[in-house]
Amino acid sequence: MKSEHDKTMPCPCQSGKQYEVCCQPFHLGKKPDTALQLMRSRFAAYALCMPDYIIHTTHPSSPQFCHDAKEWAQKISEFSSHTEFKGLEILGFQENGSFATVTFVAHLIQDKKDVSFTEKSYFEKVKGKWLYRSG
Ligand SMILES: [Zn+2]
Repeated sequence: MKSEHDKTMPCPCQSGKQYEVCCQPFHLGKKPDTALQLMRSRFAAYALCMPDYIIHTTHPSSPQFCHDAKEWAQKISEFSSHTEFKGLEILGFQENGSFATVTFVAHLIQDKKDVSFTEKSYFEKVKGKWLYRSG
């Protein structure tokens, strides 16, 4: 995992907390208790270009799941390096047993253009671990 990131920097998920007490523990292997924590830590992982974290938290039956992990990691890295991650706004969060949804706005800039989008993401808890299923 990337250890060169400044732990005291503001967390890229825009929680207002420091990275070290927000998403870093998840990036280092702690399991998120809620799908919302997973959502935030995935956003932060995109912002910090950590494709492995995205891959390991994606449900195998997700449409985004790619069996060629190397190619997938490459795609994520390209997306991360061409995108400025301006912020994450959580609009709604519902958890029901092993299923959860998070509705959010991701504020993104690509080539000076605003490519922000709103999405309702579905999450499923598998063997005690929250995974991203689909958007
Ligand atoms: Zn965070």
